[in-house]
Amino acid sequence: MPIFEYVCKECGTRFEKLHKGSTTDECNCPACGSAAVNKAMSTFAAGSASETKCHSGG
Ligand SMILES: [Zn+2]
Repeated sequence: MPIFEYVCKECGTRFEKLHKGSTTDECNCPACGSAAVNKAMSTFAAGSASETKCHSGG
């Protein structure tokens, strides 16, 4: 099954959604729930994602 990648235009959250069947369901951002998302289809497997660490004072 093809996996489509979406990028929220509101908060910028990137999420993937598995498309099953031929129906096109609307995708909403899992973070903020906004329907304004950009579909980014990648033909090749994405590399490693950069992880950011938050250092708290102390
Ligand atoms: Zn969002």
